[in-house]
Amino acid sequence: MDDAIVIGSGPNGLAAAVELARAGASVRVLEARDQIGGGTRTAELTLPGFRHDVCSGCHPTGILSPFFRTLGLEAHGLRWMKPPVSAAHPLDDEPAVLLHRSLADTAAALGEDGERYRRTFAPFLRDPHGLLADLLAPLGLPRHPFLMARFGLPGLLPATTLLRARFRGKRARAVLAGCAAHSILPLERPLTGAVAMIFALTAHVEEWPVAAGGSQAIADALASLLRSLGGRIETGVRVRRLPDLPPSRVALFDTSPAALAEICGSALPARYVRRLRRYVYGPGVFKLDWALDGPIPWRDPRCLEASTVHVGGTLEEIAAAEAAVWRGDHPERPFVMVVQQSQFDPARAPAGKHTGYAYVHVPPGSPVDCTDAIERQIERFAPGFRDRILARHRMGPADLERDNPNYVGGAITGGAADVTQFFTRPVARLDPYSTPHPRIFLCSASTPPGGGVHGMCGYFAARSALRRLRSLSCCESAILTG
Ligand SMILES: Cc1cc2nc3c(=O)[nH]c(=O)nc-3n(C[C@H](O)[C@H](O)[C@H](O)COP(=O)(O)OP(=O)(O)OC[C@H]3O[C@@H](n4cnc5c(N)ncnc54)[C@H](O)[C@@H]3O)c2cc1C
Repeated sequence: MDDAIVIGSGPNGLAAAVELARAGASVRVLEARDQIGGGTRTAELTLPGFRHDVCSGCHPTGILSPFFRTLGLEAHGLRWMKPPVSAAHPLDDEPAVLLHRSLADTAAALGEDGERYRRTFAPFLRDPHGLLADLLAPLGLPRHPFLMARFGLPGLLPATTLLRARFRGKRARAVLAGCAAHSILPLERPLTGAVAMIFALTAHVEEWPVAAGGSQAIADALASLLRSLGGRIETGVRVRRLPDLPPSRVALFDTSPAALAEICGSALPARYVRRLRRYVYGPGVFKLDWALDGPIPWRDPRCLEASTVHVGGTLEEIAAAEAAVWRGDHPERPFVMVVQQSQFDPARAPAGKHTGYAYVHVPPGSPVDCTDAIERQIERFAPGFRDRILARHRMGPADLERDNPNYVGGAITGGAADVTQFFTRPVARLDPYSTPHPRIFLCSASTPPGGGVHGMCGYFAARSALRRLRSLSCCESAILTG
């Protein structure tokens, strides 16, 4: 009998398994698909030789993850490819705003707001890893309380309020609105200010990298490390009911709260199951991948220096687009997240060719094809873009959910990270990774600190499960079977 079974091999499932194995526990991972990785997979979606990131494309939280940084994943094949610039934000009729690692270089292009921008971020760059460790953790006593207070108090504000109060010009407001839009919330909601600041801060600590060969390399490196620690992974095993599980002392679910309720409902109190079912997932995503005949012809060619391009115009435009999605609409001018992996990783496309990657937020489960809206927005800042398209691959919310049931309604970050679910996901508990059943844990992005490829949800869930394993008698048999 294994000490632990992990259901799902996304970055959090694999991170949980690695942490358990590092502590000496015997671990087995069961993955429904034939390919491991969940949100970190790579495939030839368009034409032969074009390797596309199926889900996550750019990894600021991956390279800065306090857990991944301890693992030495480079020895297991992971290589981060860093761009000269983390993010570019094109604007009509003026040069794009570039998020450089250098605070001074970034501030210098923000005109009247340059000094205010510098003063906003400089205090956090004295110990950014300490601050990020507090930010990428469940609610608790921070290790850096003063820094957290300085960061968190303005961060509680909606991005629109914070950015209008702190900056006067369109450039600073726009580039930070692009960062805030990673929240997948209306920018008028509390806490979106913090998301703007976290993403901008990460850009001043490390260039936002892509993984050499594709995001799959992150999963493959975690799997290689896990196997070196004695862990095992079985693919093609979808767990539908609790009796499907092999005997184990604990089980950690890298699944949605809805799936946890479905699979384990009979073993959990009805009230807890009801709360899992009430969990809110938020908007979905419509994603396009292109095989391109050349790089994207940005009007400001410096946009090619960035791994990520935030395409959406001004703060007002981005806020209007994201609010529309929450109202159930499809904005004509959506906020488009573009990633340019092949600019920095030649393994992604045949010589001289490029991959393109973009997605927009859409109402949950939306069946609307957003191809035209996405390509029009890119054309707005890169005239002639459509002429470079050799082939395209579309994925709407239903496709994403079919591909991975964790993406409920096409929601890609494990559920809405609004004030009610930011710290208390999936339900309010002192230990959010535990459930009322002593042997069942949740380790997916639906637990703190939420979406993104950082493995911190898995790490903290594993720590919680290890505490439980130590308190269980070694002679106790598993109760997770039958
Ligand atoms: C289109 C898209 C773009 C994204 N872009 C980025 C980005 O650029 N940067 C970033 O950091 N993050 C990005 N993300 C988010 C990131 O991919 C996720 O937050 C992250 O993968 C969550 O990891 P996880 O381990 O919690 O779950 P997942 O990665 O979703 O993995 C869950 C795994 O569990 C398996 N599984 C589920 N149910 C069962 C079952 N019953 N039995 C067996 N196996 C099961 C699934 O098949 C899957 O392999 C993106 C996501 C998407 C979809």
